[in-house]
Amino acid sequence: MTVADQAALLDLTSDAIIVRDETGNIKFWNRGAEELYGWSREEALGRTTHELLKTQFPIELSELVKHIRQKDRWQGELTQFKKDGSQITVLSRWGLLPTKKDSDQPDLMETNTDITARKHNEDLIREQREWLRTTLNSIGDAVITTDAEGLITLMNPIAEKLTGWTFREAKHKPLEKIFRIINQETRNTVENPVDKVRRLNAVVGLANHTLLIDKTGQEIAIDDSGAPIFDPNGKLAGIILVFRDVTEQRKAEMATAQLAAIVEHSGDAIATKNLHGIIQTWNAAAERILGYKAEEIIGKSVTMLIPPDRLNEETEILGRIRSGRPFGRMETIRLAKGGRPIHVSVGVSPIKDSAGNVIGASKVLHDTTELANAREALLREKEWLHTTLTSIGDAVIATDTQGLITLMNPVAENLTGWSFKEAKGRPLAEVFRIVNQDTRQVVENPVEKVRRLNRVVGLANHTILIAKDGQERAIDDSGAPIFDPDRKLVGVVLVFRDVTQQRQLESALQSNERLALAGRLAATIAHEIHNPLDTVGNVLFLLEQQLAQQPQVAQLLKTAQGEVRRVTEISKSMLSLHRETRTASPVNLAELLRGVVNLVNETIAKGRRTITIVPGFEGAIEAYPSELRQVFTNVVKNAVEATQEKGEIKIYSEVATESGVDGVLVRVVDNGAGIPAHMQSKLFNPFVTTKEESGTGLGLWVSRSMLEKHGGSIRLSSSVEPKDPGTTVSIFLPLTIAAHKHSQSQHS
Ligand code: ADP
Ligand code: MG
Repeated sequence: MTVADQAALLDLTSDAIIVRDETGNIKFWNRGAEELYGWSREEALGRTTHELLKTQFPIELSELVKHIRQKDRWQGELTQFKKDGSQITVLSRWGLLPTKKDSDQPDLMETNTDITARKHNEDLIREQREWLRTTLNSIGDAVITTDAEGLITLMNPIAEKLTGWTFREAKHKPLEKIFRIINQETRNTVENPVDKVRRLNAVVGLANHTLLIDKTGQEIAIDDSGAPIFDPNGKLAGIILVFRDVTEQRKAEMATAQLAAIVEHSGDAIATKNLHGIIQTWNAAAERILGYKAEEIIGKSVTMLIPPDRLNEETEILGRIRSGRPFGRMETIRLAKGGRPIHVSVGVSPIKDSAGNVIGASKVLHDTTELANAREALLREKEWLHTTLTSIGDAVIATDTQGLITLMNPVAENLTGWSFKEAKGRPLAEVFRIVNQDTRQVVENPVEKVRRLNRVVGLANHTILIAKDGQERAIDDSGAPIFDPDRKLVGVVLVFRDVTQQRQLESALQSNERLALAGRLAATIAHEIHNPLDTVGNVLFLLEQQLAQQPQVAQLLKTAQGEVRRVTEISKSMLSLHRETRTASPVNLAELLRGVVNLVNETIAKGRRTITIVPGFEGAIEAYPSELRQVFTNVVKNAVEATQEKGEIKIYSEVATESGVDGVLVRVVDNGAGIPAHMQSKLFNPFVTTKEESGTGLGLWVSRSMLEKHGGSIRLSSSVEPKDPGTTVSIFLPLTIAAHKHSQSQHS
């Protein structure tokens, strides 16, 4: 190949090929150089290269020359300028031409390749990489990249911090070793994101509730995503993992979820509205209390819940809220679905956005209908109790568990002589001084007794209350525990009354009865003695006739006859005495019965049994009123004594005919214990009683004889069946006594 051929060959390459001599003058300038620099061969030849191209060397030129002398070749990047003044970067390779190798000043061939574009690209890439690195390092999220095998290629400081591994330690280690993740709930290992990205070949979010276990074993809640990195050919080159610590966020989320749950499950209705009064949220209790479903009411105006006459409330609330002030609580009325008014207590507070601007209001609404009703009922009950206590005929004192007085009604004030104002808070014993009527011993404090027995107690009998001024009154009372709804003793209530008068009446009644009994007994005895005495008198008379010849005997008989006569006289006068006290007269039976009932009511019945006179016979009958009174008193008393507290006694009267005689049938019906069958036949015998010391057993016996005197009768029927016990005493009285001889003759 000729030199020209070789030169022509050199023109084929697109590189610039320049040959210069030892002085730097250009000896050869190929077509590539012409194209690259814009200088023609003619223009270039003979010029100095570095002048023509304004070459900038990376190192001193003298250094470069030294280098090439020693090593024959040099390669490096040069910055040069084209003819048009634009700057280019070339990759320059220098070599000494072999022909002049041994010469002192050999020619030098310079082959320059334009790398401006590449250089530019490289700079750009470097810049970008630098930027990326800075970004990755300064980014708030942790970043880890791996190669296609899942070996770590990069880690930013946050990733170092979260995993606990430095990049230096982690580099080229498998991702799953550094980035250990488990499920928060199941604590199972979560799929390696490299595998997942590789499997799906797409950006993936990590599973929820992921915990990262750092190098020290500490767990951190994270939230992350992985993305594939593809090479220019679309082949997977690695993945990039971005994650962050969401511990705080999860806590906040949990708190938010909790708050939402609280709102949802709150017993109070909770709703929010915007500044135009449009409802924004509505919880379950709101649905329940106000009847609207959330979807029915959200977006509607709150005014649909407000009674028309209270609309001004809303205006006021909104005005207040707009100014950012809470409204506090308000008792008002709202309309439930269908227009039903309900009592509510509403609290309204402003809702502010993060900038502090008021954007709406929350309402907490509490249904107080029941409360309002209960309060009203309580008030009514209190009122009622107060009226009852003040108007009650009995004295009432209430104490706390310590026995300190908490309440006293006017009757109690009156009987004790203490005003409630004075007595309040004082120990009961100081105000309610009670002693035994006979022994004058202080009687046990009833509060103590109630506390001890924990039940209603009656006071000891014969109790005397000593008033503040020393006045004494016989009282009758009972004490009862006051329990709170949990059956805890909270106090004692004492009810008592002045029974001075009643005690007097009672003793009068007793002596009255005894007197009458004595008279009756005497009469009976007289009557019973009279007949045998008659007989003795007759016998003495016959004896006198037969023994008249024996004067001594006759004298004795005379004496006996005299004595018999005297006894007869005594019995006669006893009989007449008894009879004299009673004269038959017209008696208003109904009135007489009322008198009897009043007496019994005021004494033994104590108002604790109901005695009712059922309207019936209203006319008059001929009778011995005091005896009749005695009969009925006795029968009604028996009925009262046979019944429990709250027993009921009814007295009926009606016109009736018995054995052809017109009269009145009076029936005294009680719901008491009844009389067992074996007792019933004996009741009219004297001294038959089941009342031990308190009874005489003479009542029915006397009653029967008195009724017989009237020409009447008495019968008794009784049942002891637990289902329906009770006794009915039926008394028949003829309209006139005249009829009695007839009736008596029939009966006897
Ligand atoms: P006393 O009342 O003094 O016991 P009574 O002759 O009046 O005497 O009564 C005799 C008995 O008859 C009473 O003790 C009582 O057992 C019984 N008795 C009388 N009336 C009734 C009655 N209504 N219910 C139950 N038992 C009665
Ligand atoms: Mg009796």
